[in-house]
Amino acid sequence: MASEYDVVVIGSGTGGYVAAIRAGQLGLKTACVERASVLGGTCLNWGCIPTKALLEHAHALKIAQDWKEWGLTIGEAAIGIDMNQVQVRKDKIVKGLTGGVEFLFKKNKVDWIKGSGRLAGKGTVEITDGDKQTISVKKEIIVATGSQPRSIPGIEIDKKRIITSDEAIGLKTVPKSLVVLGSGAVGVEFASIFRRFGSDVTIIELLPRLVPVEDEAVSAELERSFRKQGIKVLTATKVTRAKAGANGVELEAQMSDGKSGKLSAEYLLVATGRGPVTSGLGAEEAGLQMDRGYIRVDPQLRTSVPGVSAVGDVITFGQPGHPQLAHLSSAEGIAVAERIAGQEFRPINYDQVPAGTYCDPEIGSVGLTEAEAKARGFDVRIGTFKFSALGRARIANETEGFVKIVAEKKYDEILGVHMIGPRSTELVAEATLALRLECTVEELIRTIHAHPTMSEAVGEAAHAAHGGAIHS
Ligand SMILES: Cc1cc2nc3c(=O)[nH]c(=O)nc-3n(C[C@H](O)[C@H](O)[C@H](O)COP(=O)(O)OP(=O)(O)OC[C@H]3O[C@@H](n4cnc5c(N)ncnc54)[C@H](O)[C@@H]3O)c2cc1C
Repeated sequence: MASEYDVVVIGSGTGGYVAAIRAGQLGLKTACVERASVLGGTCLNWGCIPTKALLEHAHALKIAQDWKEWGLTIGEAAIGIDMNQVQVRKDKIVKGLTGGVEFLFKKNKVDWIKGSGRLAGKGTVEITDGDKQTISVKKEIIVATGSQPRSIPGIEIDKKRIITSDEAIGLKTVPKSLVVLGSGAVGVEFASIFRRFGSDVTIIELLPRLVPVEDEAVSAELERSFRKQGIKVLTATKVTRAKAGANGVELEAQMSDGKSGKLSAEYLLVATGRGPVTSGLGAEEAGLQMDRGYIRVDPQLRTSVPGVSAVGDVITFGQPGHPQLAHLSSAEGIAVAERIAGQEFRPINYDQVPAGTYCDPEIGSVGLTEAEAKARGFDVRIGTFKFSALGRARIANETEGFVKIVAEKKYDEILGVHMIGPRSTELVAEATLALRLECTVEELIRTIHAHPTMSEAVGEAAHAAHGGAIHS
């Protein structure tokens, strides 16, 4: 392996490995430093992919549990979930994908340097363990060291009873009871998975509503559905203390009515957010401007030190926060690699980043919520269409939820699309393109949606924004 490269990427998550492949494609001599024993970072190993694998098992179980409705001849007694098989299948999917990244590195002549990378002066990266060496970098270093779970005061993660998503993803038995702390994407996904698998699930959120970054109507619909599924929802509730014992966890909380309360469960899953990973990176010594532990970057994703860029979960632009999403980190990785290769920097519009939350029912959203649009002074127009009125949703036996379009009246431009219901994480792609092309509601109405599809809900929501959906 050479010890001189055009580009060195530190971290091989969806930000880092995509940046490295793009740099390799553009003819830059590239290395990617990764200290884990596998490539792919959080998303492939502990995040997006394994959680969605578990959710597909939960979906399969749901179909089986509704066997009478579907005319299946399984019989009640046989229905259950084999967690060993769930783990085997999940691991096989993860292994296939991380191996795929290794293959793509070879295809694009990207060297994987195994070990921890440290910024060691201008144009220099030191590998402090594993393949120890000093590498000189001719063009640019890209930091993509990602994020890790973090807790809140009063709660110490012991990884046995008080766990994070990293441990929950590998559970070999279905917990009898589970308290999920935090109702962001990670929290609601695990609540859905383990409720479907048979756990007694309670979800606790400090703020007054579930999935607080989503449109308020989406939060209300998810809470309604969770309660219907038997998930206990405690919003405006503050957990003040958690104590792990041999068989479970005791919790103390300040409840929504201001009184103190006690809860207990076999496991407490802490899903209160993720913090930046910069340990051993030498970021501060190298002079990188930091912001609450994150690396501060400019709109072109350059740090305060020339020749060092950063992408993904580890970065911040200051306020408001930078969304921690796999596809966003990849888009940033591509943008930086292309800039380093001499191409024009194509700025990312952070108002047009789609988000998928794979709870049941799933959520897809892009752009401004109704409240955000109003706060920015737009004269807002809303169109909503329920999945229950769609043929395809009835065929799938998944009729919960709706599509909501937020537009402005002056130019008829679509500002945001928020949906909860079947295939919402797929349907959000059309909405993302609509925002990207500065599409009007009228254009979405005139876009013919194939029948019978879930996507008809998007077209109908556009009709609704102009005063009348056909099927409601
Ligand atoms: C349970 C869960 C579910 C999720 N689901 C989704 C989803 O459905 N969709 C979505 O968009 N996002 C999802 N995310 C978020 C997504 O995983 C992250 O946004 C994404 O992985 C960020 O990529 P990254 O490249 O910035 O960092 P990471 O993926 O965290 O990768 C960083 C890599 O850098 C390595 N590293 C760190 N420091 C060093 C060093 N000094 N030297 C060498 N290597 C180093 C680490 O070992 C790691 O491999 C989920 C996250 C979790 C936890």
